[in-house]
Amino acid sequence: MREYKVVVLGSGGVGKSALTVQFVTGTFIEKYDPTIEDFYRKEIEVDASPSVLEILDTAGTEQYEKVPVILVGNKVDLESEREVSSNEGRALAEEWGCPFMETSAKSKTMVDELFAEIVRQMNYAAQPDKDDPCCSACNIQ
Ligand code: GDP
Repeated sequence: MREYKVVVLGSGGVGKSALTVQFVTGTFIEKYDPTIEDFYRKEIEVDASPSVLEILDTAGTEQYEKVPVILVGNKVDLESEREVSSNEGRALAEEWGCPFMETSAKSKTMVDELFAEIVRQMNYAAQPDKDDPCCSACNIQ
């Protein structure tokens, strides 16, 4: 079974822990407890392939090199309090060259889809680049 390491990044209070915990345990955390760093593990099937996700829920301040990214707008259940429009989110994702998804940890909207999509992004990133002489030289499958 392939393992996928997922890192959840973003400002404090946007719902990183709630999204992760909703996905892993199926429950919603109401209480806000600023996260230091937590580690979770869950097995899911994505496109008929069993996959193990190792999820690092961060304090949100880390910086990472070029890795597969999904830009997430969380708390879509609070539509009347929306601060960022879908168009703004889509435009930023386009600028970053990554997918954009709107989720709610509370109503479990697009939570499973989000984590399945990051697995797909990692599968895609792991494909050898046919134009890269190194990949073809090593014959990486
Ligand atoms: P983190 O600092 O990014 O890990 O944020 P938390 O996961 O601790 O969430 C911060 C607060 O927002 C908590 O009180 C959560 O219950 C709340 N929250 C998180 N996700 C959602 C959501 O999708 N909808 C609503 N209404 N509240 C949410």
